[in-house]
Amino acid sequence: MKRDPIFDILFEPVKIGPVTAKNRFYQVPHCTGMGYMMPKTLAAMREVKAEGGWGVVCTEYCSIHATSDDTPFPYATLWDNEDIKAQALMADKIHGYGALAGVQLWYGGGHMPNLLTREISLDTASSMSRGRIDPVQSQAMDKADIRRLRRWHRDAALRAMQAGFDIVYVYATHDYLLSNFLSREWNQRIDEYGGSLENRVRLVRELIEDTKEAVGHRCAVAVRFSADGAGSANGTIDNAEQRDMLEMLTDLPDLWDINITDYSREMGSSRYVKEAALEAYVSYVKKITGKPVAGVGRFTSPDTMVMQVKKGILDFVGAARPSIADPFLPQKIEKGCFEDIRECIGCNICYAYDARGVPIRCTQNPTMGEEWRRGWHPEKIPEKQSDDTILVVGAGPAGMEAARALGQRGYRVTLTEAAMEPGGRVALESHLPGLAEWRRVIEYRDQQIERMPNVEMYLNSRLTAKHILSFDFDRVVIATGSHWRRDGAIRWSPPLPVSGFDNEQVFTPDDIMAGADVSGPVALFDDDYYYMGAVLAEKMMTAGLKVSYITTEAMIGAWSRYTEEQERTQTRLLNLGINLFTGKTVTGFDGDSVELTCVYTEKTLRLSTSSIITVTSRQPNDALYRQLCSDPEALNKSGIKSVDRIGDCRAPGIIAAAVYAGHRLAREMDAPDSGDLSFRRERVTV
Ligand code: ADP
Ligand code: SF4
Repeated sequence: MKRDPIFDILFEPVKIGPVTAKNRFYQVPHCTGMGYMMPKTLAAMREVKAEGGWGVVCTEYCSIHATSDDTPFPYATLWDNEDIKAQALMADKIHGYGALAGVQLWYGGGHMPNLLTREISLDTASSMSRGRIDPVQSQAMDKADIRRLRRWHRDAALRAMQAGFDIVYVYATHDYLLSNFLSREWNQRIDEYGGSLENRVRLVRELIEDTKEAVGHRCAVAVRFSADGAGSANGTIDNAEQRDMLEMLTDLPDLWDINITDYSREMGSSRYVKEAALEAYVSYVKKITGKPVAGVGRFTSPDTMVMQVKKGILDFVGAARPSIADPFLPQKIEKGCFEDIRECIGCNICYAYDARGVPIRCTQNPTMGEEWRRGWHPEKIPEKQSDDTILVVGAGPAGMEAARALGQRGYRVTLTEAAMEPGGRVALESHLPGLAEWRRVIEYRDQQIERMPNVEMYLNSRLTAKHILSFDFDRVVIATGSHWRRDGAIRWSPPLPVSGFDNEQVFTPDDIMAGADVSGPVALFDDDYYYMGAVLAEKMMTAGLKVSYITTEAMIGAWSRYTEEQERTQTRLLNLGINLFTGKTVTGFDGDSVELTCVYTEKTLRLSTSSIITVTSRQPNDALYRQLCSDPEALNKSGIKSVDRIGDCRAPGIIAAAVYAGHRLAREMDAPDSGDLSFRRERVTV
């Protein structure tokens, strides 16, 4: 299809200093959980983005020196010449598709406990590492340290140029060293690098000048900068000083990559932050500088992208998550294939796995992180290897993705679903507070399946083993999901039921999503630690019920710290008036009160409550699978060659795991047995 002229503006080339981006699609620096330990994995992932049409593709944070070490979180390095080869691998792959390669040179400062290198981190002052809980402090930089830092930065820029990068960053935000120098609050120095605005800006100015002087003839110099100061709060924007700083530096760099101070808003989950949420913060920047401006906003709508450019807010449509969910987003806009766009759902699972120190993954894009080790491509998939017909039972995320990807391979697929609508748990959960955007998981797959003549979906069709054996399919895939436990059994003790949990006033998330009538006060017991306990608590509280939240952990939704949601969730629920009981487990319910036991002291207390919502673990709905497998003769007789189970019905997990399982099943259908290890390992070779 031909491109709609409305979108032409997104495909205009834009000059950035000595280089030119072929369009306005700019993959801003983003973490990958790969870093310097996995150069091949990383290069293959970034290559796919360049192939998908991004005009600029950047690295993650790239340390300039061993005193800036974020281990165990993976980061890139340009510490010495040995690093150049690995970085060049990535830059070459990006260039292979005509995109520019950017590198975000980074110095962490006092944030960094430097766990790997055991070097002392340097900062404006000697301070405890912020954002970490390590009991270590940085060393205050003296003038000689500042001179050293400038040399490290310059040397790293020269290595970056040698590696082939086109854009070299001065990274002056996100609470790292340079933003501490800029900060009125954190920079308490009394020398010419502290005090007045001019003094606080001095180091950033020097680094821009140093970088330009070293590599500016070949590389553009970008500055990543926060549009607002620490005084911003919900509804108010504190940017007076930032404006002044921008005015002082205005056209010194070749590009401004603008974000904001509050990271949990900048890359907030869709529960809390919607598309283009940074516009009010960023809109003044282009009025101050004549240089191109890039900025993010979880842009997935092509119309919003056009508006950002037309309204004069951004020159480059910056993206991290939308480029992870759909590396081919630019190409799909160019070809007018809007229904093929896999829109990011804002779940922050990508970020969560980087925060766990492993390669990122994505709920919408199951190939993310698997480009090199499994050879998966987000748009291409090998053709079918047989004419086998396939029945997929259950149209949750696992079943839908399996059917979609099998259909893409060319297999004839029948997808059956017991409910009146597809989507399984996502269809239900997307009605919970803040989770509406999760429906995109269903919508993308539904639209794709709808257009495949070889895939048929039947709703309102609950299948039994008898049905399946009477049909005429060669292969059967069971994707029947899971259900929440009702008995209160917790994760770290044997799965014994809690006394009194057979009471009809004990509800599971499944009951609540099915519309159960719950009376208050409610005791919500969360041993799951992710979002479900918190969103159900919010649902109950906004319905006017008094809620006590009990968890064996130390905070609400402890795992959601990895998705940058935990603090916001705890703040929201505390503001709504929740009663919080941490470090407690539930040990009994008598219909009027619940018994809580402290996980440390084993002391007990009782809370008056009418109902309990128990959010512990789930049990696979695997009866159908077991029934079929228990009778090989019957399978043989009906001509069924294989029965597989995928997703929650095999092992309950996050939605991303179900989508991945469905995709993998489709990829591996008729594939030769890969032995015990089904992927390539990237490792240091000796
Ligand atoms: P997953 O996350 O693994 O995809 P879900 O729980 O989201 O699991 O989806 C499983 C789907 O399977 C649900 O929509 C459910 O209605 C459907 N299902 C369960 N049992 C059957 C069955 N016997 N026949 C057809 N559909 C079923
Ligand atoms: Fe978006 Fe979630 Fe994928 Fe991250 S994991 S890119 S937030 S859909």
